[in-house]
Order: sequence, then structure tokens, then C-alpha cells
Amino acid sequence: MGIIRKTKSVGLLLNVFNQSKSALSVVHLIENLKASMNKTTVYRILDRLEQEGVVHSFLDKDGLTWYAKCTECTSHEHSDVHPHFQCNDCGTIECLSIDISIPTISDRQIDSADVLLQGTCPSCLS
Ligand SMILES: [Zn+2]
Ligand SMILES: [Zn+2]
Ligand SMILES: [Zn+2]
Repeated sequence: MGIIRKTKSVGLLLNVFNQSKSALSVVHLIENLKASMNKTTVYRILDRLEQEGVVHSFLDKDGLTWYAKCTECTSHEHSDVHPHFQCNDCGTIECLSIDISIPTISDRQIDSADVLLQGTCPSCLS
């Protein structure tokens, strides 16, 4: 994963991602790692990982930042143009592996699109 030095802190943070199938909020990450590192370190590592194409961030319905692992991104470009799904019952957010089409607008350049779908997740439905 590029130029990121694999420090102990980076390893711990990636571990939290590896143990989770869904996306993680910044609040959850800070809480989860508070025994090993402070808030500032968590933010700094997340920033670096996002620049390197390891994770991507997006906002939930309350405007809180969440992170999820990228699948095919590089340090040059994020190619995650997928919607996110937030469950209104349990609050879980997942990346949906479906493509969404971004409209082309003649006099604008579009760099990213955030689509947040809200509803009820499979485990809350059953
Ligand atoms: Zn990405
Ligand atoms: Zn749910
Ligand atoms: Zn995602």
C-alpha cells in the first residue's frame, strides 16, 4: 500500500477495518482505539489512508464522517462510485457494490458523488 509507513498505529487501525464487514464511523474508530492512540492520531492516519486509496470517507444522515475500505483505488484516484446504505433501525452503513450513473454536465467537472440510501438492513428486516 504505497508510501504509508506501516507503523503500529496504522496496523491497529487497519485491524479494526479488517474485523468489520460494514463501514465505521470516526466516533466508533476513536472509541475503539482510545487505549492505543489519541483522536488526533486516528484523524491523521485516516487522512493518509484516504490519500493512498486504502479507505474512502462519506457522510451519514447526521453529517458524521464514516470510513470504509476501498477495493480498487490507488493513490492517484478513488474509483468508488457506489452508493452507501444506512439502516434507520441499527444505524449500520454498508457499501453497496452497484454502479450508479453520474450525469455529465457540460460546464461542470464532477469529481465525486455521495449517494446515501436509507432504509432497513437485512438483519433488521428478518
Ligand atoms: Zn476509494
Ligand atoms: Zn439494521
Ligand atoms: Zn463505500
